[in-house]
Amino acid sequence: MKAISCQFVGSFYKLEQIPQDKRPQIAFAGRSNVGKSSLLNKLTGQKKLAKVSNTPGKTRALNFFIVNDKFYFVDLPGYGYAKVSKQEKDSWNKMMENYLDKSDNLIGLFLLLDCRREVNQDDLEMIKWLHHKQLPGIAVVTKTDKLTRDKINRKLKELKTIYDIPAIPFSVVDGTGKNELLSAVFNLLEEKN
Ligand code: GDP
Repeated sequence: MKAISCQFVGSFYKLEQIPQDKRPQIAFAGRSNVGKSSLLNKLTGQKKLAKVSNTPGKTRALNFFIVNDKFYFVDLPGYGYAKVSKQEKDSWNKMMENYLDKSDNLIGLFLLLDCRREVNQDDLEMIKWLHHKQLPGIAVVTKTDKLTRDKINRKLKELKTIYDIPAIPFSVVDGTGKNELLSAVFNLLEEKN
């Protein structure tokens, strides 16, 4: 497996502020508390890269990380956090939509889904948007250490057959999926070249 060296670039609250160079961007999206920070830390082998916090919805920004000096990981704001004002929610949804619509350098998106939860409206919108834009999208079913293998397999199958999206199981606890996810990242980059 290729090594990953990753540095935090910055948190951006406005689209005009994000890095403008042509390096490809790979985004990570999902509901608050789905395990996105934990996954990014695990993937990059840096324990505190993305701050793991138990406060859902802590990320309001587009967080950029540069990987191997060649491409970006973009940590999108966790959606679906109930305890913020509608105004705040609207403004960060808008920024995220803007980013997803306008970023020419976005080459793929990993959509994180908690294995114990059903796909909800926000998740579904993201899946529809991926299909609409024909952007490569891969579901990452997180926290798989919490369910039996049978149930996980059912979930993966459901995502493929009902939602037409490939899925990778992932757990930071037992290390499931790390290599598969990294391979998927490098496949996206190769497809782009
Ligand atoms: P974020 O809000 O999406 O960034 O989610 P976090 O990475 O902060 O994780 C939310 C909670 O889920 C934390 O309590 C994590 O310890 C826990 N968590 C994350 N990944 C896993 C996992 O693979 N297995 C288990 N059992 N818990 C996890």
